[in-house]
Amino acid sequence: MPLWKNYYLAQSIPEALTRLNEGARLIAGGTDLLLEIQQGVQPPPESLVDVCNIPELNSLEIRGKDLFIGAAVPLNHIAASQLVQENAQALVEACNLIGGPQVRNTATLGGNVAHALPAADGTIALLALDAQAESISSEGSSISGLEELFLGPRRSTIEANQALLVGFYLPLRKSSQASAFRRVMRPQGVALPVLNIAVWLQRKKDRIADAHLALGPSGPTPLRARMAETVLRGEKISQVLIEKVYTILLEEVHLRTSPYRASADYRKHLAKILLQDAIEIAWERAGDN
Ligand SMILES: Cc1cc2nc3c(=O)[nH]c(=O)nc-3n(C[C@H](O)[C@H](O)[C@H](O)COP(=O)(O)OP(=O)(O)OC[C@H]3O[C@@H](n4cnc5c(N)ncnc54)[C@H](O)[C@@H]3O)c2cc1C
Repeated sequence: MPLWKNYYLAQSIPEALTRLNEGARLIAGGTDLLLEIQQGVQPPPESLVDVCNIPELNSLEIRGKDLFIGAAVPLNHIAASQLVQENAQALVEACNLIGGPQVRNTATLGGNVAHALPAADGTIALLALDAQAESISSEGSSISGLEELFLGPRRSTIEANQALLVGFYLPLRKSSQASAFRRVMRPQGVALPVLNIAVWLQRKKDRIADAHLALGPSGPTPLRARMAETVLRGEKISQVLIEKVYTILLEEVHLRTSPYRASADYRKHLAKILLQDAIEIAWERAGDN
């Protein structure tokens, strides 16, 4: 039995919004949505509207002081893009780890964010990179911080407002700034990591001038660890500092036991290792430029 009745390939944002308002369900790469429909996690839709042919959602370019990445750019294009490699190493690393080559050929960053899972790899990298998201609905368009989009697991303001994610604005990297992404995944790959972490930092001589940290899964929504990152600011990198950040991080986040992936204790153990790794890699990279 077919899983849907109508499949619309929208050519423009207004066309996609019209279909959404008529009750169609939005689809991009379909790597999350189609599985969930098949598994009965999502009700079978009457109509799907595919946004992958809309030019604005496929653009990847510099816009003023930002790098713009369209919501429907496939993950393998993002990882291979020189612009992204120069400006957002953490995002390249995250995109290169999502699924396998077949998934990365069709999956999009917009789908990764809109699906609103707390450990989505692309989302965690975007949080540490301080990305802003552009969305549009029949009420108009808006640009907001990424964290403002999330309401709970699989729940976002995007879906609640029948909106379309257009793309993401990432500040262009300046000299002495760099980022890194690290994760641990079960070998049999249950689609999401046991734990992931993204770090962005700015060096000033032998000190960390500024830092952003994001870690997943660490609560009901993808989270930027704002308390832990303040501990890094103005400090020299050292083992004592990493220990301090780790202590605050554990107070700030909720690392829980999940039946298919890991125990809370194992996640706490990994958090320290990944934190240290990601901070040290970003620190070294920031010193190279
Ligand atoms: C085998 C396998 C392995 C995977 N491994 C990983 C992994 O390692 N890490 C990871 O993070 N994820 C993983 N995933 C999940 C998935 O591939 C990603 O989340 C992907 O980025 C989703 O993008 P998509 O374009 O396929 O989204 P879709 O499935 O098309 O859509 C997902 C949701 O987002 C909404 N949506 C999509 N685009 C937009 C838009 N522009 N505006 C508004 N709403 C939108 C849809 O309506 C739907 O609710 C895996 C999936 C599979 C099948």
